[in-house]
Amino acid sequence: MHAYDEDLTQQVMGHLLDRLRLDPPPLGRLGEHEELALALKDAIGTRPRRPADVLRTYTDAMEPTVVSCDHPAFLAFIPGAPTKAAALFDMVVSASSLHGVSWLEASGAVAAENQVLRLFAHLAGMPQSAGGCFVSGGSAGNLSALVVARDTGRRRLGLAATAPVRIAVSDQVHSSVGNTLRIIGVEPLVVPTADHRLTGAALAAALDTASSDGGAPVVAVVATAGTTNAGIIDDLSGVAEQTRARDLWLHIDAAYGGAALFVPELRERLRGIEHADSLVVDPHKWMFAPFDCGALLYREPRLARAVHTQDASYLDAIHGADGADHDADWNPSDYAYHLTRRPRGLPLWFSLAVHGTDAYRDAVARGAEIAQHTARLVEATEGLELLREPELTVVLIRRAGWRPEDYYAWSKRLLASGLAFVTPSVWEGETVARLAFLHPGITEETVESIVDSLVREV
Ligand SMILES: *Cc1c(COP(=O)(O)O)cnc(C)c1O
Repeated sequence: MHAYDEDLTQQVMGHLLDRLRLDPPPLGRLGEHEELALALKDAIGTRPRRPADVLRTYTDAMEPTVVSCDHPAFLAFIPGAPTKAAALFDMVVSASSLHGVSWLEASGAVAAENQVLRLFAHLAGMPQSAGGCFVSGGSAGNLSALVVARDTGRRRLGLAATAPVRIAVSDQVHSSVGNTLRIIGVEPLVVPTADHRLTGAALAAALDTASSDGGAPVVAVVATAGTTNAGIIDDLSGVAEQTRARDLWLHIDAAYGGAALFVPELRERLRGIEHADSLVVDPHKWMFAPFDCGALLYREPRLARAVHTQDASYLDAIHGADGADHDADWNPSDYAYHLTRRPRGLPLWFSLAVHGTDAYRDAVARGAEIAQHTARLVEATEGLELLREPELTVVLIRRAGWRPEDYYAWSKRLLASGLAFVTPSVWEGETVARLAFLHPGITEETVESIVDSLVREV
């Protein structure tokens, strides 16, 4: 199984070349349970099968029943649209069995990943001594960062290692932060928002009340740079003013919106992000890296190291047990809760190096432009209402007279027709249409067809 097999290689590479050449790839469809069970019935047996046959099972049954996230008209959730360079280099990472846990094993890969992290730190205005690692995504980044926030806060206050503490979040914070707080046993101090945006004033009022409500001390605040549902950016400067005045950890979840750092006009809206003690950005969203890729940065990496470094005899070798000076060594495993990891920042590094950051600036800007174009189109269309001016790339639309089931039927219709993949969302308690742009290749013509499909009689 471990010997090079020319036939196997050609088959898989051939398939890959076919997939890469599709422009656009088919949108895909939802699979039926019975159809998939039948296709997979004898897939794995005790005896070998010809690779061509197994590949056919995949291309006939699996591939068509996976919606292509990289289709330009995939506008549901938050799409993914890897550059070809990044997608191809992801294969290199996989086929080379790169193991990105430590400097000892993968210094070259880690150095390249760190070059990307330094670029992010520079764009965000964080000190060049900032650092961290790539993790699987925003959820893993939020969890890893908030463990550091919790433990650092306890230490600053001279509390016991298990003392209760609270972390302030807005009522709009991402669901993964809610999950994180449950997992790490921290009670949230939920700050209400007016207009869905956490402000410095609302935070100050909540923190003042919390200081005398008999609850556990607040040690950190989470702010969001681009909510997933609507692309709303918190008042990062106002929030940072409060965290700095009160010596609280500031975690900024920029999983979706962080890519805006590439575009000077959008960067303005993220003012205050430079004060983050920890920052999460998901390159697998609006930075066109393949799944899964999240970037996690700490202002003071040593604080993360103190929390996440794992102590095990067999790991002594990566932590400098040989007595030599390893101060400059960087072990990604010391900055999140993981150990084994693929150097998932490398595909992005390759693509950034191949294309240059100007190309990223333009591609990110394109998503925001097409969202603006869509917003104007919606405003000009009778029967449609733009629910909010898009700040990033999400457009929320009300169709007069539609009930929730109408939005879901519309979503199904568009997928079946191959035009687009869109899923409804809820805005202020009401089911609405939501378009999340990201792929720079979407055309205005496609957008016009989608908007038209909301008002056309069917
Ligand atoms: C997508 C997202 C997350 C979760 O990231 P995953 O990569 O899906 O784990 C967290 N926060 C925000 C704001 C997001 O948009």
